[in-house]
Amino acid sequence: MKSYKVMLIPNKKQRTRLFQFAGSARFAYNWALNREMTAFKNGEKFISEYDLRKEFTLMRNSDEYKWLKKISNNVTKQAIRDLGIAYKNFFEKQEKTKIKYTKKKLAYLARIGKSPAVYDMNGHPKFKCKRKNDYSFYQATDKIQITSTHVKLESIAFSRRKNRQKLNWIKLAEVGRIPVGAKYKNPRISYDSLNWWFSVSVEFEPQKSEGKFTESIGIDLGLKSLAVCSDGKIYPNINKTKTIRKLEKRQRRINRSISRKYKMNGKEGEDRYLKTKNIIKSEELLLKNYHRLTNIRQNYRHQITTEIIKRKPSLICLEDLNVKGMMSNKHLSKAVQAQGFYEFRRQIEYKGEWTGITVIIADRYYPSSKTCIACGNVKKDLRLSERIYRCEKCGNEVDRDLQAAINLKRYGESKVPVR
Ligand SMILES: [Zn+2]
Repeated sequence: MKSYKVMLIPNKKQRTRLFQFAGSARFAYNWALNREMTAFKNGEKFISEYDLRKEFTLMRNSDEYKWLKKISNNVTKQAIRDLGIAYKNFFEKQEKTKIKYTKKKLAYLARIGKSPAVYDMNGHPKFKCKRKNDYSFYQATDKIQITSTHVKLESIAFSRRKNRQKLNWIKLAEVGRIPVGAKYKNPRISYDSLNWWFSVSVEFEPQKSEGKFTESIGIDLGLKSLAVCSDGKIYPNINKTKTIRKLEKRQRRINRSISRKYKMNGKEGEDRYLKTKNIIKSEELLLKNYHRLTNIRQNYRHQITTEIIKRKPSLICLEDLNVKGMMSNKHLSKAVQAQGFYEFRRQIEYKGEWTGITVIIADRYYPSSKTCIACGNVKKDLRLSERIYRCEKCGNEVDRDLQAAINLKRYGESKVPVR
């Protein structure tokens, strides 16, 4: 499966409808959750999805809830199914974490008058909330249609008239990104408090690459350069460029101004988090800026990983970075996060799978930067500041990152027979 997420460009009418759809999905989900929780409190049985849906349809036909009739039945149906899935996951987790008592222990608890703790309520489905941006809904797979420029959703338009039916087609922000005429799964529409997005999974057959493979590549990931390859190719750290620095600076500035505005609004005894129009505007600006930042970074990563895969190496070896450990260093955590090492690795792994290139992840404790490529000596106390590796044993001098990349290449080749 390959998943796609593309921004939508709805017109005003479509936008209004999208909000209505998302609102109804949230309503149905919360309604069903409330039903289950009330039943539980009253000591009644868990209500099946089927019964919930039947009850919901009755309600939908009543006068009080006639606004629900304007929303496609599939949207609310899927929301109730969502709750069913959430409950299923919850019950499974409970089963796993259930405390198993021996007969002896149970007898003991009874003697001291304590009832055994049965379940941990952690992970119980929660109510969806408008404030927390719970805006999303499903579409039935057989109802959607996708062209290279538009996606057709179900009953955005009420009327069956032809010129009205056009309303069902919402423009996609990226032309030709989602394959047309494929088998779609799990189409979903969501809102991130600025834009609407369409996501969908597509069944995908990995193509076995034809032609010759080239020499394997070891990749050393780092902060100085994002990636250094064993063939000497270096991909610089984009976060050191002017554009990114400027955007980051702007991010900090807007952030400061927002918190200042919040402070100014909050009088004693009043709601400190009152949102004025001004604040909403600034928050939108912040989000826009943030999206630009993440887009630039993500595009850059995609460019690099695609380029590396296109060289068709026999195998690619990356190290298993201890990102969590690096993140705990507060001087590094921001820079590490901005590099997106996990994402880089994920891209190499799935793109490798698509093209039939073996990807090896080196053991976390493999000393890729500490091992001399000339004699194999391992320098135990290599400091981060030593950019040039000088071997104490054989006197070899080499760039630290390049050496790591070459070591990773050799490591990979030692694990798998090279084509
Ligand atoms: Zn050496």
